[in-house]
Amino acid sequence: MALSVALGVPHVSTGQMFRAAIRKGGPIGDAAKQFIDKGQLVPDEITIAVVRLLLDEQGSTGGFIFDGFPRTRTQAEAFDRVLQDRGTRLTAAILLDASEADILQRVLGRQSCEKCGALYHRKLVPPRQSGACDRCGGKLTQRADDTAETVQKRLEVYRKVTLDVVGYYEKAGLLKRVDGGQPKDKVFADIVGLFQS
Ligand SMILES: [Zn+2]
Repeated sequence: MALSVALGVPHVSTGQMFRAAIRKGGPIGDAAKQFIDKGQLVPDEITIAVVRLLLDEQGSTGGFIFDGFPRTRTQAEAFDRVLQDRGTRLTAAILLDASEADILQRVLGRQSCEKCGALYHRKLVPPRQSGACDRCGGKLTQRADDTAETVQKRLEVYRKVTLDVVGYYEKAGLLKRVDGGQPKDKVFADIVGLFQS
C-alpha cells in the first residue's frame, strides 16, 4: 500500500509538481523549465511559486504529503507563510534518517526495467534471474547518474543546504525522525504510526 492511501491524502513529489507546472505552461512553469532543462536546481522563489500554484488549484483539501520539499531553509520559511495565508499549518516534517553507507548501497544497487519501469535492487530486491524483469522479462538497467560520485555530490548538497531544514523543523517541534535504515515495511509502519493516536 502506498503511504498516500494509508493516510488518505495525495502524495506530491517535487518532480511531479514541476512537471505539472511545465505542462500547464504560463510564466511560472516556463521559468522552472529553463532550469530543469539545464539540469540545474530550480531557485527557491520559483519552487515556492509552484507550490502556491498547486495549493491554489487544489483548493481546500484534507492535506498533502510533500516529498522532497522543502529542501532549503528559505523554502521552509516561505512555505510556512504560504500555509499561514491559507489559514492552515504543517502537521509534521518526517526525516527518514539513514546512514551514508546505507544510502550509497541502496542507490548503487538500484535497477529498473526498461519496458515496464519496475524497480529492483541487486542485493535487497533481486530479480529471479539476474538482469531480467520478473514481470515482463524486460532488460534491467541502472540510471546513468546513480554513481558513487553523484551520490557523494548529492550528499554534499544535502549537508550544506538541506540539513538546515532539519534544524528548522526541530526547533518548531514538528520534526519526526524515522529510522530509514530499517526494512521498508517497518519504515512504512513507523510513518503511519506517527499519525495514529
Ligand atoms: Zn518489466
